[in-house]
Amino acid sequence: MNQYTIQTNNAEQTAQFAERLASQLSPGDVIALEGDLGAGKTTFTKGLAKGLEIKRTVNSPTFTIIKEYHGRLPLYHMDVYRVENAFEDLGFDEYFEGDGVTVVEWAHLIEDQLPKERLTIYLYHEDNDNRKIVLKPLGKRYEQLCKEIIS
Ligand code: ADP
Ligand code: MG
Repeated sequence: MNQYTIQTNNAEQTAQFAERLASQLSPGDVIALEGDLGAGKTTFTKGLAKGLEIKRTVNSPTFTIIKEYHGRLPLYHMDVYRVENAFEDLGFDEYFEGDGVTVVEWAHLIEDQLPKERLTIYLYHEDNDNRKIVLKPLGKRYEQLCKEIIS
């Protein structure tokens, strides 16, 4: 299976990469973010929001699980770290199948509820401000997307 690796050396570079990805996103796209605390999932999401022309400040939705923002497309920002029962149907499908872009931090915690086709992005804290970012496209749509942004 194809995967694509990039390296960033500060938070701004991660945000800028996400911003560039955002310009290629369409309604119904789903991005699963994986990585330890502090890896940069929320930093990535902030950049993505900027790329979607969202003006409001994006914060980690720690107590709410899902936050919705409006830009060129709606952004549904989920952080499922505190979802207690991964099998409980919290209505995620409505977001995945909605008119916006969904970003899920700690996505593997609701693995069984994720759409099969998605772009999974792993962020690895290397050292200091260096991060390795691995894009793993699941499905043709996301393969194409990766090819467009990685050049
Ligand atoms: P997470 O949501 O994965 O817990 P955050 O995005 O909230 O992570 O935090 C990442 C922290 O690491 C921020 O303080 C950010 O400024 C910092 N940072 C340093 N270098 C990078 C980088 N290359 N990419 C992303 N974040 C970075
Ligand atoms: Mg976060």
